[in-house]
Amino acid sequence: RQYVFAFEEGDGKNKMLLGGKGANLCEMTRIGLNVPPGFVISTEACLAYLGHNRLPEHLMDEVRRHMAAVEKKTGKVFGDTENPLLVSVRSGSAMSMPGMMDTILNLGLNERTLQGLIRLTGNPRFAYDAYRRFIQLYGKIALGVADEHFDKAMEALKQRVGAAQDVNLTAEQLKELADQFAAIVQRETGSPFPEDPYQQLEIAIGAVFRSWNGKRAVDYRRQFKITKEMANGTAVNIVAMVFGNMGNDSGTGVGFTRNPGTGENITYGEYLVNAQGEDVVAGIRTPKPIAEMATEMPELHRQLIELRDRLEAHYREVQDFEFTIERGTLYCLQTRNGKMNARATVVTSVEMANSGLLSRDEALLRVNPQLLEQLMVPQLAPTGHHEALAQGLPASPGAASGKIVFDADTAEARGNAGERIILVREETKPEDIHGFFAAQGILTSRGGKTSHAAVVARGMGKPCVSGCAAIVIDHHARRACIGGVGLAEGDVITIDGSTGNVYAGQIPTKEPEFFPELTRLLTWADDVARLKVRANADTPAAAAKARKYGARGIGLTRTERMFNDSDRIPIVQEMILADTLVKRQAALDRLLPIQRADFHAIFREMSGLPVTVRLLDPPLHEFLPGEKQLQFDLDRLRASGNPAELARHEAMLERVRQLAEVNPMLGHRGVRLGLTNPEIYSMQIRAILEAAAECVKEGVPVEPEIMVPQVAAVEELARVKKQVEKIHREVEAATGVTVDYHFGTMMEVVRACLRAEDMASLAEFFSFGTNDLTQATFSFSREDAENKFLPFYVEQGLLPENPFEALDIKGVGRLMTMAVEWGRAARPELQVGICGEHGGHPESIALCHRIGLDYVSCSTPRVPIARLAAAQIRL
Ligand code: ADP
Ligand code: MG
Ligand code: MG
Repeated sequence: RQYVFAFEEGDGKNKMLLGGKGANLCEMTRIGLNVPPGFVISTEACLAYLGHNRLPEHLMDEVRRHMAAVEKKTGKVFGDTENPLLVSVRSGSAMSMPGMMDTILNLGLNERTLQGLIRLTGNPRFAYDAYRRFIQLYGKIALGVADEHFDKAMEALKQRVGAAQDVNLTAEQLKELADQFAAIVQRETGSPFPEDPYQQLEIAIGAVFRSWNGKRAVDYRRQFKITKEMANGTAVNIVAMVFGNMGNDSGTGVGFTRNPGTGENITYGEYLVNAQGEDVVAGIRTPKPIAEMATEMPELHRQLIELRDRLEAHYREVQDFEFTIERGTLYCLQTRNGKMNARATVVTSVEMANSGLLSRDEALLRVNPQLLEQLMVPQLAPTGHHEALAQGLPASPGAASGKIVFDADTAEARGNAGERIILVREETKPEDIHGFFAAQGILTSRGGKTSHAAVVARGMGKPCVSGCAAIVIDHHARRACIGGVGLAEGDVITIDGSTGNVYAGQIPTKEPEFFPELTRLLTWADDVARLKVRANADTPAAAAKARKYGARGIGLTRTERMFNDSDRIPIVQEMILADTLVKRQAALDRLLPIQRADFHAIFREMSGLPVTVRLLDPPLHEFLPGEKQLQFDLDRLRASGNPAELARHEAMLERVRQLAEVNPMLGHRGVRLGLTNPEIYSMQIRAILEAAAECVKEGVPVEPEIMVPQVAAVEELARVKKQVEKIHREVEAATGVTVDYHFGTMMEVVRACLRAEDMASLAEFFSFGTNDLTQATFSFSREDAENKFLPFYVEQGLLPENPFEALDIKGVGRLMTMAVEWGRAARPELQVGICGEHGGHPESIALCHRIGLDYVSCSTPRVPIARLAAAQIRL
């Protein structure tokens, strides 16, 4: 078996065998870049070494043969006194693990070769400095001598000669130090410092192999989930040393082929004249930006730009590279794919496609959709250091600052007065929705990532931290204790929904950016994707935003979100409290124009695109205050005695008690509520169709879609359909215009899926409500599951993932597959979409694509993610 590969012969694609650094050194050599001669000892040799605790037989023979070849190429000889070859011994595995394993420079130095180095460089100070560094590094890494012994000797010397820094030491003093270091090695290991270069090399190879199992490296692999399949063992790269410290025509540096922060197409990086790699790291001298090289060393700058162009042309990806200049010659010592932030990844991918370096498809595949989330939400832009008060769950990404407020009413009052508010609660309920609208962000002490607060906040694109257990709220005192710090209502905090951190005071944030390259990339995505992307949006403002983000329609408008706005909740409550149909109808008559105006505004925003409106879904008691709150208010009212108010509250309490259900989520809601109280749906259907008629009159193209929630039996759907048809005729007759619309059903009840062909006989479209459908398929109550047992289930491998985050392919996915098939059998042109939280999750989107859905609908900030994911599944 061959364990050693010259840079000329190694397979540049085989990172598992040669490590990333080694494979790229081979590749760069092969394409003619100036790499110092050298060779790679494979990861297989590493595994053999770790398995048997010694180097494989004949390995050193192979190494000697390759060393002879390097000697020939450099004209130097390993161990020679006159013209010594020195090498670096560098680790490098298939996955980049920066700084986790060991590299030894200047190997081959000893008392005799040192003289050769002095002659070669004409710089005794440098030579002694290199020598003492080598003894220390080698002593530590290869021989296991503790650093502190060397550090002590260094300190003692500096004190004795009065040197403030290492750089102040003379050649003589460094020589003395090297002697002391050698003595330390002798004392600590019981043997003299190895003088024989091949002995040095053999021990060093073993040490680098062992560093694969060093604590640092093992911890790193665990932290970043690097498995054996991704990287197994480290290779060792033996590279002829080149010196960047041979005068003012020498230097060293690191470069990025493009700016990794902005993506700007300009060579980026830093260099130092007359220095070695370590000097940059040691921070003794401040490196200069590469742009300065153009004036300081123009010819070398030209070579560097040429290197950069050749690297990019070959790798077709932004490169992060190391270089050293020895006496006017530029060498490349390492290259790898550059790590970039979201913006730079998008910008460089699009530019590379524009310049023909990549195809559009390749550019689309290069961007991880999840990365885009960073760009769609405000982010923290701290100017100094901030310690978090507490940490909760990162429930809805983005950062926001504002004054603490403990209830939705106050949030609304202060928010409408122009203050920035963070709503802080134990948990939130649907009736808190007006507080959400007014708040910059939401913070709760209970609840998981799919709790009410999290879902609603994500839907609105507002930051949310949930389940932050370190919060105790005292509602009476209007104070809270967060992470042990007492805060009053009105005190400012900052939350970061991307990390879950909560901070005291205001930390600056920066707004989301939609820049030309992102727009371009997403346009390419739309050309490729079959699956269309819509947004869930409940207000005209949200619709406008959805359109800006590239949504091709609204897949879900929740009418109850409008019910909860402050100007209508009293009317809604009046409707609920009405004890006669006449009174109820009077309240509905007042709601009709309000809802019509909402729909009209949304339709106008989305002109030419479909808008799916869901009829009322939640149970009525969600629009009334909780029983506890009412009791509390009643006590107050009885004392102060406003009779009208008192009577209203007493009636409300009675109604709340009547409406109370053991299991509200499975209770009197959705179509069941619509059928038992048909006047509510009538009002809503009329509002939708009249708004559409207004648009038609105005020449605004509209595509309203009326959607019925919670349907379990086709008979339910039949009744609502009749109702819609009747009102449609009335509206057309009254307005004199033709109004086109579509009628369809949510698919969120298991029975509806099992009767999909019946449903499709009446419904022109299906929209899978995967939140409820997941809940129903598993018989898991979502909020309880997330708080109580789901984390345990995932940890123990009972479920691969939280099914409320990643669509459960095997169960829910199968149900959907059957429903689509049966539905299309009854109605081939049936339109099918999904409007749950999963619509913005790339793997769930892939499933939707596979089972033939027409669209996914997700919260607005996730629209770009979904557009890109929908394209990637086709590539
Ligand atoms: P790391 O993975 O920690 O970057 P490297 O193996 O890349 O470790 O080496 C550490 C430093 O030594 C880098 O600055 C590198 O450029 C420099 N270096 C490595 N080999 C040589 C060599 N043969 N000649 C000159 N400098 C080298
Ligand atoms: Mg390293
Ligand atoms: Mg490196």
